[in-house]
Amino acid sequence: NRPPSARGLPARTVDGFVRPLLSALLCDPDLTTSSRCADLALRSFARGRLCVPEGGATALPELLAATLPPGTVRTGVCVTDASISSVGTKEHGEISCRSLLVATGARAAAELLPGLRVPDFHPVTVLHHTAPTAPLTEPALLLDGDRRGGPVAHTTVMSAVDPSRAPAGRPLISSTVLGLRTPPPEAELDGAVRAHLATLYGTSTADWELLAVQHDSEAVPAMPAPHDLRRQVRLLSGLYVCGDHRDTSTVQGALSSGRRAAYAILDDLGVRPDQGTLQLPTAA
Ligand SMILES: Cc1cc2nc3c(=O)[nH]c(=O)nc-3n(C[C@H](O)[C@H](O)[C@H](O)COP(=O)(O)OP(=O)(O)OC[C@H]3O[C@@H](n4cnc5c(N)ncnc54)[C@H](O)[C@@H]3O)c2cc1C
Repeated sequence: NRPPSARGLPARTVDGFVRPLLSALLCDPDLTTSSRCADLALRSFARGRLCVPEGGATALPELLAATLPPGTVRTGVCVTDASISSVGTKEHGEISCRSLLVATGARAAAELLPGLRVPDFHPVTVLHHTAPTAPLTEPALLLDGDRRGGPVAHTTVMSAVDPSRAPAGRPLISSTVLGLRTPPPEAELDGAVRAHLATLYGTSTADWELLAVQHDSEAVPAMPAPHDLRRQVRLLSGLYVCGDHRDTSTVQGALSSGRRAAYAILDDLGVRPDQGTLQLPTAA
């Protein structure tokens, strides 16, 4: 694969736009991701733009669960053992099953199904601030194209994108710091982020209020080359695994691997999707 500069893009566009955009899309500040995956991320960005689920990240699984008969999905249950015919749970003891699909993150999947590979991960830290007035009214993703120094990879006025996420009557500014394996103390991180946000938004952030800091050291499975975009989801007849670690490290990848696993289960059970009641989405 050719580097962006060899595709006719001027160096300024590569450094000031393509690199920060790819870092944001892939949560990978050093851009160690396979170029095939980077191409896919750019393609999705160009074709579909960026979006967030209205109401927060839980809206999507809640919408999917709402299409099922009541009681089908139980949440708040911790699985401790997994096999083809049963799962052990902390709360309800053993539950028997005909087939098992493990749909956790990569590390939990490998704990339940020893032998599964655990990838490296990109850490993600998100700081949420509120301010007396929104520093921007557009629903835009602000990148540090000039690399003016500071920890923020990208930031957005989330209340302009999805007002339902904002504290009542106040703006919500969400900013992402990439690459922190162990974040510094909260006050230190907030100080550095606020100083960078003042430069990025061109306004004082002295009277901004920090609402929350969320850090996940294993937020996104790394995708170095060669990355297998279609990792096996059927381990045995009756035992399946899906999630972002079987596909691309995105919500899209998690959904796509879930669809592949669902088809494999139906196939093994001898159910043809077009004959049953299960409606599966078609490939994007
Ligand atoms: C801060 C942050 C920002 C992100 N931003 C983006 C973005 O902008 N775009 C994008 O596409 N992706 C983004 N991602 C990545 C995206 O969230 C993941 O790729 C996606 O959620 C993976 O879905 P999944 O179903 O594979 O796993 P998850 O969403 O992690 O779901 C796994 C579920 O399994 C449950 N679980 C784990 N262990 C057990 C157990 N033993 N028993 C029972 N349940 C268990 C967990 O509680 C969890 O609910 C981001 C991730 C983070 C952390």
